Amino acid sequence: MLTADQRYLRTELEQRRERLHTALHSPDADASLSQLLTDVDAALTRMEKGTFGICEECHDAIEPERLLADPLMQFCLDHLSRDEQRALESDLSLAARIQRRLLPKPGFTAAGWDVQFHYQPAGMVSGDYCDLLETDHGLLFLLGDVSGKGVAASMLMSHLHATFRSLAEAGLPLDRMVEHGNRIFCESTLAGQFATLVVGRAARDGLVEFVSAGHLPVLHIYSGGATPQGATGVPLGMFCNTRFPVHRLSLGRGDTLFLYTDGLTEARNHTGEEYGIHRVRTLAARHAEAEPAGLISACLNELQGFGKGVKQTDDLTLLAVRRSA
Ligand SMILES: [Zn+2]
Repeated sequence: MLTADQRYLRTELEQRRERLHTALHSPDADASLSQLLTDVDAALTRMEKGTFGICEECHDAIEPERLLADPLMQFCLDHLSRDEQRALESDLSLAARIQRRLLPKPGFTAAGWDVQFHYQPAGMVSGDYCDLLETDHGLLFLLGDVSGKGVAASMLMSHLHATFRSLAEAGLPLDRMVEHGNRIFCESTLAGQFATLVVGRAARDGLVEFVSAGHLPVLHIYSGGATPQGATGVPLGMFCNTRFPVHRLSLGRGDTLFLYTDGLTEARNHTGEEYGIHRVRTLAARHAEAEPAGLISACLNELQGFGKGVKQTDDLTLLAVRRSA
């Protein structure tokens, strides 16, 4: 019995065979075409024998999405040839370069606010999202975390990036912007995929409003300490029609907002203990007077000391937004 995918692939292979036959009969046919025809015939034979989609090395199933992309595949991901491995690595490094270019410029300033961020994928690409924009109403800052890691999460990250870049231009109130973004995200993700996100707008007079879609608390850092701000709503992508309350606060000159992903709070030390939000607060309060870059490097230093000898397993992003003194 063939599966629906296999029926589709058989039709696909039969069509390719037809085309190859036609191409081979043209006067200047390339010799490589007859090799392809042999490969297509072999795939069709495997289908008849029931060995199609089985790795020739380990006899496990080949990943279905790879077969759909190329029905001639004969090996699973674990048993790629050297050339295939190199091609995959170069695809991934290109994806990483593209993702880097989606990030804002370091040392961004707008409307009397200085910003610094640190973006550190656990692998080649990250599911974390960070963006900064200057709008008519001040600085727009966004920080998010797509569920999962790796390539799939990074694709959703770039989707979020594009969605909010275009929504930002519409000049909507924050809650409406996030509601729209949520609906677009809902329609384009699979069940079980979601993203936590903070979208904030900081005006020249120190007034900040922000929406949190299930993200970790934003820290307001001032000379007397650091306070977590704003109850969080539900993440993006969970419910198509949800409202997102807007939080408002006023920052004095020299105050900072500190945002981070769970790569910070859930980092573990060698005994398995989590870094935790309490440590973030204590550190933030200790560096209340620091510039954004200073705060971030203090945080990274402490995190490095804490997690000494333990491999970073989650994407990490830090963002500090400070009202110029
Ligand atoms: Zn295999």
